[in-house]
Amino acid sequence: MPQIIHQTESNLNVKNIKYLIKQYQSPFWVYDANIISNKIQLLKKFDIIRFAQKACSNIHILKLMRKNNLKVDAVSLGEIKRALIAGFKKNSDEIVFTADLFDEETLSKIIKYNIPVNAGSLDMLKQLGSISPGHRIWLRINPKFGYGHSKKTNTGGENSKHGIWDPHLAIPIIKKYNLKLIGLHMHIGSGVNYEHLKKVCYAMTKSVMQINEKITYISAGGGLPIPYQLNEEPINIKKYFSLWNKAREKISQFLNKPIQLEVEPGRFLVGESGILVSQVRAIKNMGNKNFVLIDAGFNDLMRPTMYGSYHHISVISSKNREINENKTIETVIGGPLCESGDIFTQKEGGRIESRKLPLMEVGDYIIFHDTGAYGASMSSNYNTRPLIQEILIENNTFKTIRRRQTFEELLSLEQ
Ligand SMILES: *Cc1c(COP(=O)(O)O)cnc(C)c1O
Repeated sequence: MPQIIHQTESNLNVKNIKYLIKQYQSPFWVYDANIISNKIQLLKKFDIIRFAQKACSNIHILKLMRKNNLKVDAVSLGEIKRALIAGFKKNSDEIVFTADLFDEETLSKIIKYNIPVNAGSLDMLKQLGSISPGHRIWLRINPKFGYGHSKKTNTGGENSKHGIWDPHLAIPIIKKYNLKLIGLHMHIGSGVNYEHLKKVCYAMTKSVMQINEKITYISAGGGLPIPYQLNEEPINIKKYFSLWNKAREKISQFLNKPIQLEVEPGRFLVGESGILVSQVRAIKNMGNKNFVLIDAGFNDLMRPTMYGSYHHISVISSKNREINENKTIETVIGGPLCESGDIFTQKEGGRIESRKLPLMEVGDYIIFHDTGAYGASMSSNYNTRPLIQEILIENNTFKTIRRRQTFEELLSLEQ
């Protein structure tokens, strides 16, 4: 939910943001550790919370998760390295590697570190089994249907590349290499559609019965939504847990053993904890359209360009001028990139939209809310722009958890 920056209950308020604007070069990311802790509390009924770090993989955010007894999911060797630096242990189940394929280097490191694998293809099982018999594995199942807030985030069905279509075909491979099957996993976002969620839970129960192996864990995956709009309802976690818990009980009865219920959120834990602060650098009219151009681009915040995602926007004046929230003008917000898709107010498919925003002046600041997930972690160096700072507010202190990349660092790979 977008934080109202004029309230002081949240650390993401005008006073703190103005302080940070004085200290740091715009644009920059800010996270509030309190918000993350509160979101973790909401999930404490689950036996295991596994943070899907691709949503926000900063080492300091991972340390925060570890301090709160969370485990972590890694989807690349780079993410495994981050998890290890943050203190998560090898030779344990603290890190699970989820993917649909291995490259050679990742495969050999996973074996060396003895990290359980959540396999999304039969080829992964063969490649792993032939050099690491006995390795602990999960099966990621494609339940043959999907869901997701955009075609690009749908994670099931015939048009998804994720998961195993016929998990019973995995059993002979598992037997051949003596792989240790410990869990079944399904990552299908459900939004707040509880009817759909019932279908997912049913598909999990059915898969367990078909495979009929003595697993220890089931994972509900991630995909828990957050309200990006001011008037949106948050997900009912009680209901979400209760549906999964029922599935767990059925499975536990069927296998005649206790089953641990895992959940694997990314967005839900960090999305609302973060904002992007950027400065207005130019304002111009194009015919009837009012364009406000800022110093952050889609290389920093990719979601609007990639998915047509909505982020709530607040405005802070650079001077002592009052921002008049009631006097608004239809505004298109664009960035500095030499690319017409560099627009923060757009719908899926790239349709440019305008938004009612207060009248701005060059020098004012624009805050993009709820950018803690898939914000910094999706940034790139496009247009040769350095990665920007990340700042964490924790125990009333401001800590730089990533400094701005220098041009020398960026260019050194080519010299
Ligand atoms: C991305 C991902 C998640 C997290 O998705 P959210 O929508 O951020 O909760 C969980 N599990 C897997 C395997 C993922 O790839």
